[in-house]
Amino acid sequence: MKNDKNILQDAHGRDHAYLRISLIERCNLRCTYCMPEEGVKLSPKSRLMTYEEIYEIAKTFVNNGVTKIRLTGGEPLIRKDIPVILEKLATLPVELSITSNAVIIDKFIDVLKANGVKKINVSLDSLDEGKFKHITRRAEFKKVYNNILLLVKEGFTVKVNAVLMKGFNDNEIIDFINFTKDLPISVRFIEFMPFDGNKWNMAKMVSYAEVMSFVNDAFPEQRIERLQDAPNDTSKNYKIKGYKGSFAIISSVTNPFCDSCNRLRLTANGQLKNCLFSSGESDLLTVLRAGKSIEPIIEKAVKAKFKIRGGMDTLEKLEEPKLRNNNRSMITIGG
Ligand code: SAM
Ligand code: SF4
Repeated sequence: MKNDKNILQDAHGRDHAYLRISLIERCNLRCTYCMPEEGVKLSPKSRLMTYEEIYEIAKTFVNNGVTKIRLTGGEPLIRKDIPVILEKLATLPVELSITSNAVIIDKFIDVLKANGVKKINVSLDSLDEGKFKHITRRAEFKKVYNNILLLVKEGFTVKVNAVLMKGFNDNEIIDFINFTKDLPISVRFIEFMPFDGNKWNMAKMVSYAEVMSFVNDAFPEQRIERLQDAPNDTSKNYKIKGYKGSFAIISSVTNPFCDSCNRLRLTANGQLKNCLFSSGESDLLTVLRAGKSIEPIIEKAVKAKFKIRGGMDTLEKLEEPKLRNNNRSMITIGG
């Protein structure tokens, strides 16, 4: 069914086989780095993709070469029709996965399994209950922690995403790595990224180099193993020899992985973003609702993709608020 025309190849020769779909702009947590305290302006319900529209748009991407779809949000599991969305997307020939804060994921084990979801990414930024409450503005630590253990027990491949912030959770890097001693999970340390309203500044970010310096101080060199990264992987993967799990660093700020980027993002209100950092969007939903083909819009958006970080190709440009504040808050992009 794949179309011959390669509309998912950009001007820099990158093929895009990975689509991340945000299902919802709302969340049951309020992470400070993801959304401003006052919340974000929500799209009217009538402007959000229905499950049929999500399926139609996803199908077009799959016909053009997408092989992986990840569902995200906001919190994707608080969308009421999530079981139907999973069922519809499971009929497409793709690897289907999900990113969740895991607060209520215990209620979805069967539906996730039934629809072939095997890989689950869970956000957890602190192993300390008080700090978790501070960063998420909600007291849900125990549920998330226990649900991570449950997901592993149920046989899912689990990655735990921790956004590091200087002076807040950088002293937990080794605790997180030790969390992988008996658990076959991958903990991924994410460099704090700038988005609208998240009060980012470079000084708050913990870099790849700084993470490795904590690791090198805590473990002898011969115990730190550099793992082979998967193709198109955004993370640099490591393992402590003898530990069941592994850890990784996602260095979008200091060491971007744009050369091998194969991702596109669809927001809950049907806008295609060709890059996490780009402020530009292409309206697929309006075109779909008008009964027209969305392929020309997709092709144009993909061709317009910048080589590096939405055009912010230096750290100086990334630090320029005027450039990055035209972008959405992360909660309405989906990570
Ligand atoms: N609610 C789900 C969750 O938290 O996993 C899915 C949506 S969330 C927006 C997706 C990912 O984006 C999470 O792993 C979160 O840590 C990450 N994220 C949000 N804001 C970020 C920021 N400013 N810098 C780096 N990562 C961020
Ligand atoms: Fe919600 Fe995920 Fe954003 Fe936290 S990171 S506010 S859990 S969408």
